[in-house]
Amino acid sequence: LSFDQMGIKDDLLRGIYGYGFEKPSAIQQRAVRPIIEGRDVIAQAQSGTGKTSMIALTVCQLVDTSTREVQALILSPTRELATQTEKVILAIGSYINIQAHSCIGGKSVGEDIRQLEYGVQVVSGTPGRVCDMIKRRTLRTRAIKILILDESDEMLSRGFKDQIYDVYRYLPPELQVDWLTEKMRSNNFTVSAMHGDMPQKERD
Ligand code: AMP
Repeated sequence: LSFDQMGIKDDLLRGIYGYGFEKPSAIQQRAVRPIIEGRDVIAQAQSGTGKTSMIALTVCQLVDTSTREVQALILSPTRELATQTEKVILAIGSYINIQAHSCIGGKSVGEDIRQLEYGVQVVSGTPGRVCDMIKRRTLRTRAIKILILDESDEMLSRGFKDQIYDVYRYLPPELQVDWLTEKMRSNNFTVSAMHGDMPQKERD
């Protein structure tokens, strides 16, 4: 399967090839299409296998850049990962004029407010700061159509469970699907791009 065969919009393909990618990695081969088609996906792969790029690519494909509402939310366990994901989105999405912002602890709240009020389509952040911005009503969740929990196992082990669940409950009801709500309430939710040993994909 090539990038051309994945139903990706032309200006995004230009960005992908311009970024230096020629062929999708294994996880990209398996996960990009189902995510773009709107299925719920759990993807697990070791780090360095193209997971961040897979997230960036699907998010770029799914957002409508003609509006400035937040449409994609990515939660990550560390500030570095949240920032890295934002960077890859901006790089791959350079021909689609995508606006992204990283909402992370330790950075100026004023800057978050400015960026969010200016309007971005993608927010990549850590659970605490994202939760804060949602509760201040600075981050509007109304138009969000995809939630990505990156390294969800790591987020859980860092004690972010309650904050993730808080964020989740503010999302549009269409995103609050029963199986995920169940997982969130229990102690073993492992969603979206996790790292680990077993490449696998699952849908519900
Ligand atoms: P990631 O896991 O997305 O951070 O990717 C790990 C490294 O592989 C990064 O340097 C990416 O730029 C690179 N990479 C990811 N996907 C591809 C691809 N399809 N072709 C070539 N390099 C890639």
